[in-house]
Amino acid sequence: MGSIANKPHALIIPAPAQGHINPFLKLAKILHSKGFQITFVNTEFNHRRLLKSQGSDALNGLPSFSFETIPDGLPPPQNTDATQDVPSLCKSVDETCLNPFRRLLTKLNDSSSPVTCIVADVLMGFTLDAAMEFDILEIVVWTSGVGSFICLHEYPNLLQKGLMPTPPKESSVLIDGYLDTVIESVPTMSGIRVKDMVSFLRNTNPGDEFMIHFLCLQVERAKRASAIVFNTFYELDGHHIDMLASIFPPCYEIGPLNLLEKRIVDESVAIASLQSNLWKEEHECLEWLETKPPSSVIYVNFGSITVMTHEHLVEFCWGLANCNYSFLWIVRPDLVAGNSAVLPSEFLAEINGRGMLVSWCPQEQVLNHPSIGGFLTHSGWNSTIESISGGVPMICWPFFGDQQTNCWSCCNEYEVAMEIDNDVKRDEVAKLVIELMNGERGDKLRKNAIHFKNEAEKACVSPFGSSINDLEKVIGMLQTSTK
Ligand code: UDP
Repeated sequence: MGSIANKPHALIIPAPAQGHINPFLKLAKILHSKGFQITFVNTEFNHRRLLKSQGSDALNGLPSFSFETIPDGLPPPQNTDATQDVPSLCKSVDETCLNPFRRLLTKLNDSSSPVTCIVADVLMGFTLDAAMEFDILEIVVWTSGVGSFICLHEYPNLLQKGLMPTPPKESSVLIDGYLDTVIESVPTMSGIRVKDMVSFLRNTNPGDEFMIHFLCLQVERAKRASAIVFNTFYELDGHHIDMLASIFPPCYEIGPLNLLEKRIVDESVAIASLQSNLWKEEHECLEWLETKPPSSVIYVNFGSITVMTHEHLVEFCWGLANCNYSFLWIVRPDLVAGNSAVLPSEFLAEINGRGMLVSWCPQEQVLNHPSIGGFLTHSGWNSTIESISGGVPMICWPFFGDQQTNCWSCCNEYEVAMEIDNDVKRDEVAKLVIELMNGERGDKLRKNAIHFKNEAEKACVSPFGSSINDLEKVIGMLQTSTK
């Protein structure tokens, strides 16, 4: 494979959140397996958490794979294990990270193996300025679904043409009507309603104005990259990508990254075991799943950022208790707003043996376990694509951001999921879980999920698979930048 000095050197920089670090680490491992030297850049805050959850030995001393950090610009948090506030983080990163990033590039360029290409998160758009200044090729990665990218790209157009209804400020009755308004003119997303678009675009909360500006700016900036990469596959989202191809630089689908990683990264090499979880995984849930019959367990996980009210937590508790299915529920310590998540003691007594509760799990292994029959999810894109690649149908309870759009795609385009009401009630939880696990609708969704699982495997595993093909193009592009 040659000495480090001859290898192309990719600097990889995700947005500083769990749902971004995970797919970026997979991509980094894939590029490493294809002969790249990797420098993976985290924020100081997240890297400290990684060192704590993974142990410093796991992250250091890897051949041709090193970590660097830059500050996120936020004041030190009170709780060093909790998810950071998204709008504050986006604002701070956008305003403060360019200079530390420039300093890092200067340092690496003064070393014996200068950076030859940058692979950055679309949300880290400031890196494109540095790439131009240092004359380094950059490709960007959108870690969410393609649908949310399209919504953000279309929004300024819709606004200008008066096609995006103005948010009503006071009446909840009007707000209902507003959210249900269909926006006919979003290309390839016929029938999408205001409530299905990236949640900030509703512009009903004080912080939305900033997030709209920030997100739309990053999507616009992506036009300056040499290519845009999506964590999906042609058989799932090709129609969206074909449409984007006429507007953006070359767009490539190289997903599901979890499958590509398995196909490409040799399990016996040291970097294969490198993990990016910011929480420590509790593996005993896998042993518990071993004791359950096939397709008998509903898996419940709302990802790393969702924060719910205590009332909603209680509704989920009793819905799960009343559905009479076994369940594995991941309850993060910071899942409930303003408090640590405390589950009612009557609920804990009632579910004894039928329910397993842990605070963080190895999700990909869980979703591929034969005992899992369905997934109650917040519809983060990684969870969505991991569920699809495991052939597991879903119930979606989108919380915010891109999750509403991912939910819309799952329910309307791919038909692998059903949506649960935002103001969730226990009876509906129980009813939908029963329908998903054992009803006619659940059967249909499961068949569709298995169909896409098979297509995803072909895309990533067969020699002419669409994702393998796109990956080769991306690698070719990154290699040509080697001086
Ligand atoms: N994840 C995990 N264990 C958990 C919860 C989540 O490994 O208990 C991983 C999951 O596999 C996914 C990521 O964390 O890769 C969450 O990303 P997603 O986009 O689904 O949601 P977010 O956390 O960004 O809202």
